[in-house]
Amino acid sequence: MLRNSLGSRRRTFFMQLLLITAFALTGIGMAQAQDSAPATPARISTVYTGDVINGKRVVSSLNTGDLEPGKKHLLYFRGVQMSTGQYWYVSVIVAKGAKSGKRITLTSGVHGDEMSSVHTVQTVMGQLNAAEMSGTVMAVLDVSRPALESMQRRWPSSGRGLELIDMNREWPGNENGFSAVSRQAGLVFNRLLKPNTDLAIDFHTGTTGLDASAFHIGDMSIPDVKTMMMLYPVGMIWDNPVYPGVLHNAFIDAGIPCFTPEIGAARRLDLDMIPLFVEGTLNVFKHYGVIPGTIGRTAVDANVYIAKSAFPVLITQGGFIELLVKLNDTVTPGQQVAIQRNAFGEVVAEYTSPVQGRIGGLRSDATSEPGNVLMFILSNGATVSDAPLYSE
Ligand SMILES: [Zn+2]
Repeated sequence: MLRNSLGSRRRTFFMQLLLITAFALTGIGMAQAQDSAPATPARISTVYTGDVINGKRVVSSLNTGDLEPGKKHLLYFRGVQMSTGQYWYVSVIVAKGAKSGKRITLTSGVHGDEMSSVHTVQTVMGQLNAAEMSGTVMAVLDVSRPALESMQRRWPSSGRGLELIDMNREWPGNENGFSAVSRQAGLVFNRLLKPNTDLAIDFHTGTTGLDASAFHIGDMSIPDVKTMMMLYPVGMIWDNPVYPGVLHNAFIDAGIPCFTPEIGAARRLDLDMIPLFVEGTLNVFKHYGVIPGTIGRTAVDANVYIAKSAFPVLITQGGFIELLVKLNDTVTPGQQVAIQRNAFGEVVAEYTSPVQGRIGGLRSDATSEPGNVLMFILSNGATVSDAPLYSE
């Protein structure tokens, strides 16, 4: 959830060291070491592999312009291979309007324990009638398939024994990359997402052990990002581009406006919060003329709080945590927010808010080691330059 870039820098350094060593020992050149996946063509075309799984045709690349208008299409996209030689397929729904218009893409399941993201996209797609649409909505529901299969945030990789890799640090991926998850990201981004998208929304939730409130992460200096986020009846926005490697920034780097809604707790469906995000997404479709109808409630109706920062409060001791605040609470500097006890019941730490703001994320596990995130506070207070960032 919260991390700084040190881990990834260390990993990159380690990877470089490993490669230098490997090439020195074997004499294998970089070009020979890479797989020979063909380069992505300038205009992607739809390629059916000839397979049909559960009644759905399988594609290895997709151009939604090739699909019949006025209909919904259910497809599997063929992702990267597993160790057995089989493939990680991802589920794709395309609602192809009878008339042309904006192409909007919805993604979920980039993290495997974020169920409300999947359910929100399913619900939105279930409400679309392609015959009355002008434009195309594409949903990619289970992007990080192996993470979803085990209800965990990260992709299990067998590279050097089992390790777990955060797919939302891998975008836009690399079809010839050094891990299966990098290749999955590259295949999905190059052959499915980027060629078929004018606007995108990448749905997330909190993560296992750290609940989140309803809010968006996005860069409000990008006009379409601001427009889309403000069309949701959601009470908080973190106006921040966060960092490279997340899917919404890969879209933005490709010239495609995108942001990240956060829909409550991980692992379960938040059926109170999901309707807010469904309503907002349908508002986006209406605003851009993809579906008919009047705009529903928006950020103005939710009296939205727009924050520039997300301050983490880090846990300093091991022990049992008693929270004194709830999600969405307003806190003031110095306000006590939690106490922590050891196994004897003695108080070992007391935590206070460093800033004025609102609670955006809150630890849900009752115990913790030192170094974990107790909570993060969405705030417009002064920033701490080297503080780790909250991530989606
Ligand atoms: Zn996530």
